[in-house]
Amino acid sequence: MKRPLFWVVTVASTVALAGPVGAQAPEVKTWTPSQGDSIVEDTTPAPLVTKERPRLERVWIDVDPATVLPAVNTNKIYLNNCKPSGCIVKSGQASSIDGATYQGTWGINGTRTLTAFNASDAVWTQVVDCMKDVFSPFGVEITTTNPSPAPHFEIMIAGSPGDLGMSSGIGGVSPFSCQPYIPNSLVFDFQKVWGSDVEEICSTAAQEIAHSFALDHVTDPSDPLTYNPFSGRRRFKNAQVQCGSDCQGGQSPFGDPCSGITGQNHVCSCPNGTSILTNTQNSVQTISALFGTGTPTPPVVKITEPKLGAIVVAGFPVKADITDDNGVARAELYIDGAMTQMLGGAPWAFNAPASLGNGTHKVKVIGFDIFGTSASSEVSVVIGKPCGGDGDCPNGTDVCLGGRCVAGPDATGGLGVTCTSGPDCKSGECASDSTGAKHCVESCALGEGQCPDGFGCLEAGPDKGVCWPGYDDGTGGCCSANSQPAGPMFLGAGVCGMLLLRRRRRR
Ligand SMILES: [Zn+2]
Repeated sequence: MKRPLFWVVTVASTVALAGPVGAQAPEVKTWTPSQGDSIVEDTTPAPLVTKERPRLERVWIDVDPATVLPAVNTNKIYLNNCKPSGCIVKSGQASSIDGATYQGTWGINGTRTLTAFNASDAVWTQVVDCMKDVFSPFGVEITTTNPSPAPHFEIMIAGSPGDLGMSSGIGGVSPFSCQPYIPNSLVFDFQKVWGSDVEEICSTAAQEIAHSFALDHVTDPSDPLTYNPFSGRRRFKNAQVQCGSDCQGGQSPFGDPCSGITGQNHVCSCPNGTSILTNTQNSVQTISALFGTGTPTPPVVKITEPKLGAIVVAGFPVKADITDDNGVARAELYIDGAMTQMLGGAPWAFNAPASLGNGTHKVKVIGFDIFGTSASSEVSVVIGKPCGGDGDCPNGTDVCLGGRCVAGPDATGGLGVTCTSGPDCKSGECASDSTGAKHCVESCALGEGQCPDGFGCLEAGPDKGVCWPGYDDGTGGCCSANSQPAGPMFLGAGVCGMLLLRRRRRR
């Protein structure tokens, strides 16, 4: 039983390239989707680009709740480019399961062929990579291998709406219901409407399959579920986002009144786990509730100021570069192991406490992405006069390393002492090589001869070196050549886990 809830679809396929307000008359160009996205990139200053997305369409279907299992029956999302000869779609309830003579069924008249994806192989590869990226927060498998007859969700990324007897200008189409998911849903992303525009093909695929998870359109232009134009990669938002962007004549597609400054806000079509309709939805929560979360990718964190071993004054500034594919949520500053400041947004610029006394201090910044996955960066700095030799250090067992005093080989947990994990070491870092030897290490600047006698500065990752016993770094301090480490790694250095060490090539 279908409810006849279709709605009008408009074609809007021009790009206006307008100059900055107040500058010379804006240059206006027209663009047709089949030519692909040809945004001018060499205009100075950057042009304001406005591209209205061709309207997408949801088709309401009544899903029998009895067929929707409490737990979703598959985590596979199949991207089908219908190559080489198109996909045959038969009339019937929307289904991704192949038959002997067809690749899917949908609410269309008769049996039709959706023509194959006709952009380049490079574009296809980028679309697949984009979908894997956009769905990386979730426990789904984006696949290009047909799972039929096993249950799966499917996005046919191919052809034109006319292939299926639909009006031109429909960018994509999904069945829609307020059940948590539509079993074996089949949705369409009409590639020829989008040409070779990877981001539009990708975000349309993401939007259509998300409609099969009871998600409505939203106003946020950077979310795949929007009709609003956006330049860049759209990602699902882990936040309560206003539903809308699809209003025409003051009404939502399902007839709810629209409001807001732009007249594009409306109540979300499905209650999504609550008992009443609300104005917002959290698509990350909704999709995660179905599939769980994916393998998290931690942010990339690098302290840019101060440098390792810098001589600083109390209250010194700490700056970090923090990036993440899904967004950085917050960052924390730790001094000598204690959290002293937290920031909820960029710029990631802190100040160490003004009360810090003289000596060597450990500065650590931990960045968290919006899913709570973290990564950190750490440097040691010195307040007060830098040491010029071991004799300048307050403890007899200290050694002077790059101007700062660190616990030496004669101290408990000192440099080079045998360890089993990070907490055994004053530095918090225990490293191991493939021979099984494990030693406490301290950071050093590569190629500067900072390590004390008997140690060399061994490369331990991008911009990171550690003083390693018996390693000859070529700066003259060391050593016997018979104990070169082979592929050592860090053990138990806090949240970082294991970090591979590479031998620095000697000059
Ligand atoms: Zn849509």
